[in-house]
Amino acid sequence: MRSTSGDRLRYKLCDTPVLKATASVDSGRIRVRADGLLSKLPAISSALSMIDGDIPAFAGESLYISTWLPPVPSRAFDRFVRSQILASLGRRTPDQITISVTEECPNRCRHCALPDTGNHLSLEPKDVQRIIDQALDLGSTLIIFDGGEPCLYRELPELVSYVDDRAVTTIFTSGAGFTEGLARRLRDAGLQAVNVSLDSPVEDEHDAIRGRRGVYRDAMNAIRHALNAGLLVDLYVVLRRDNIEHLQRFHDLAREAGVHELTFFEVVPTGRCTGSEDIVLDASDLSALERFVSSAPPPRIFSVPAALKRFGCFAGRSWMHVTPSGEVYPCACYPKSYGNALRESLSGIWKRMSDFPYKGINTCPMRSKGPSKDL
Ligand code: SF4
Ligand code: SF4
Repeated sequence: MRSTSGDRLRYKLCDTPVLKATASVDSGRIRVRADGLLSKLPAISSALSMIDGDIPAFAGESLYISTWLPPVPSRAFDRFVRSQILASLGRRTPDQITISVTEECPNRCRHCALPDTGNHLSLEPKDVQRIIDQALDLGSTLIIFDGGEPCLYRELPELVSYVDDRAVTTIFTSGAGFTEGLARRLRDAGLQAVNVSLDSPVEDEHDAIRGRRGVYRDAMNAIRHALNAGLLVDLYVVLRRDNIEHLQRFHDLAREAGVHELTFFEVVPTGRCTGSEDIVLDASDLSALERFVSSAPPPRIFSVPAALKRFGCFAGRSWMHVTPSGEVYPCACYPKSYGNALRESLSGIWKRMSDFPYKGINTCPMRSKGPSKDL
């Protein structure tokens, strides 16, 4: 991917009679101009103001506001904008779908949301293709291949190339199996970005949390291979009480490694760490994170807690998750199935998911002990 500063280029975010919005990049920051009736709607103006002043993941001929969004311009981005407009009028779209293609994984992370069942479950490629077809028809614009470790799934590049220009694709990886050759094949297949997980900037700590010696080195190699192949890279950190002290070191590592984005996600006591509420960030941790993010220089940081505070829970509202057995959850961390994608249509399941009671609330139902009694 060609590197330019992107200064003075103007990118069209939306061009309709009711909303016209453009972005430019000046001195490394995105500047947004918006006009039209819809620009005054709280949901739209909030989304635009979140971008305004932000650091882009990458700015060249296309603008990558974030590794989590399709580039501007693109058909996928136009679809994304349309879904945001519809969302402001009350219509839900599964913008993001995570597909856990396999539960196979050589790691044993303490916080794994999907600890393997020991049944070696994987989705068949033809089933994943059917799920992709249906997700695209429902309006999805970001298809994330997840696991287990998706790099152990032989047909991963074929699945990436199966997704047409209505959506972009990314993968989550611990780095295991992410070789130089696979990086090139995934790039050729059209992959946009790689989310590489990191739990500590200290090698021994990371390996201990991930339950396997060598996984830190795998992660660092994956970053190198992905960047060499010209892919966007996001360093994905699950913050807990015992690694929040490393905020600065995570950011230093992201900058030194040359990644495009650093994502901070807040641990959810689900899967293997069900019941471990003591690892969840407290109010002072969240304030420290907010202060850090607001003053950090490049690379760009995507703070999921900040997005949750601003937009509310995404589960069942703009996100759904498919497990290796085909069960469909409102999000990867909320293990309640609304149906099985191998036996019924995704659109029927998505409709049923409108019953998910916590859509849009500003605290995660899995982090507070009270509301998630329906599990
Ligand atoms: S969190 Fe990911 S890498 Fe870790 S054990 Fe679970 S599936 Fe494997
Ligand atoms: S339930 Fe909602 S807030 Fe919690 S992790 Fe899922 S999307 Fe995020």
